[in-house]
Amino acid sequence: MCGIAGIFSHKPVASELYDSIINLQHRGQDAAGIMTYDKRMHKEKGVGLAKEIFNSENMELLTGNIGISHNRYPTHGGFSHGEVQPFWTSVPYGIALAHNGNLTNYNELASEVTKTETRYLNTNSDSEVLLHLFADALHKDSPPQTSKEFFELLCESVSNIFNKVRGAYSVTSIIIGKGLVVFRDPHGIRPLVKGERSNGNGGKDYIFASENTMFYAMGYEPQGTVLPGELIYVDENGEIFSKRLIKKEFNPCIFEYVYFARPDATLNDVSVYRSRLRMGQNLADSWKEKYPDKTPDIVIPAPSTANTAALSFANALGVRYSEGLYKNTFIGRTFIMPGQEERKKSVKYKLVPQELEIRDKKVMILDDSIVRGNTSREIVRMLKDFGAKEVYFTVACPPVKSPCFYGVDMPTKKELIAGNMSEQQIEKYLEVDALLYQTIEDLVEAVTRRGNHYIDRPCMACLDGYYVAKDIDNAKITEMEEMRTFDRTSGDSVS
Ligand code: SF4
Repeated sequence: MCGIAGIFSHKPVASELYDSIINLQHRGQDAAGIMTYDKRMHKEKGVGLAKEIFNSENMELLTGNIGISHNRYPTHGGFSHGEVQPFWTSVPYGIALAHNGNLTNYNELASEVTKTETRYLNTNSDSEVLLHLFADALHKDSPPQTSKEFFELLCESVSNIFNKVRGAYSVTSIIIGKGLVVFRDPHGIRPLVKGERSNGNGGKDYIFASENTMFYAMGYEPQGTVLPGELIYVDENGEIFSKRLIKKEFNPCIFEYVYFARPDATLNDVSVYRSRLRMGQNLADSWKEKYPDKTPDIVIPAPSTANTAALSFANALGVRYSEGLYKNTFIGRTFIMPGQEERKKSVKYKLVPQELEIRDKKVMILDDSIVRGNTSREIVRMLKDFGAKEVYFTVACPPVKSPCFYGVDMPTKKELIAGNMSEQQIEKYLEVDALLYQTIEDLVEAVTRRGNHYIDRPCMACLDGYYVAKDIDNAKITEMEEMRTFDRTSGDSVS
């Protein structure tokens, strides 16, 4: 997962891009970068949280009214400074690009870029390949003169990407002397929303980002979603051009609603908060049906992503919602941390049970999802250590059985608990008195029931094994898992 943003404004954009990174920090905590341009490209990027990378001195150098930003959470490539986005190339024009997603035919594309197009790849990142493919198709002997002509060339270049590139990609890009460009893959797997505000002079400023959580504070009005297969271009004068270049099924990631996105975001014209409330309601209905005799004394969310679903679950069951697990917010998400040992160690530091809420009670834990199962098992053990009479476990997401190759850094199938155990076996492994997962049908209902959306069918390949871009078979799974394992262990680029 990553977070991206692109801003065209009547005033300098650096501070608003910084605000975007801060507001999208939950989507990637490993690294961040900003690029802006006036007559030249200006960049600042580094490894760590935004507040560790940017300061008043380096921000002052990021001049210009057009720029892009990136929060990194690696799903391809290593962990070094050289892999931090945005990437850029000086030919043609000077192009910078930030990408959220994962290209599933990286090896074929990398070999095309290096052998056929004789370009040099400086990293193992799929985003660098995407940049070169984009740049290569924009390289013409007689460059277009007008914005309209340039937009036509952009349509050609992005159509070329849509034809060649498989997987998930939402992109923001700046091109020197031309403006801001954004596009989203034909299935719209990763999010990309848009907003605009008046510039007080009869014109408009534009923002495009992974989530719209910061729009209100910046004075932008949400304008819905960039459509799958759509290209949008804002030229240097603020004239906007857009075209949906290809129409395929719209399959946005369902896991954004379960776990990744902030609850105050609206993605693909569906409120994340409302979808989580419905996840809790649907789960409560199933619980009542399956376990009419098991009513918990309290419902505790595994904080914080599950809070919203736990609230509606408790309401629907008529029992008390409790903050029986205190979360230390200064420790990052365990799912995001590389390295199993670190992950295991951090659960006890991160979650502290409140004995008063737990002792002698029938405790229901509601979690957003179970990936490896280690955190869930530790939570259950902690509750028992603190005197819970019975522990029930409910999960807002159905069993995660298959890895994600579309931009979420999931473990290999071997490491996914539901990829290897039945629900009965998981119940035993967790040592709980009852376990209930959301069904796929109820999750889809929770996400798609309301909202003025165009979603045909969300991507839920990690739940049902159906990879929406039809680009994954068993051989590809092996190839992608090996590549990811290599990236995690080698962890470096040449720069
Ligand atoms: Fe999202 Fe799962 Fe699809 Fe990956 S496989 S894009 S996590 S729904």
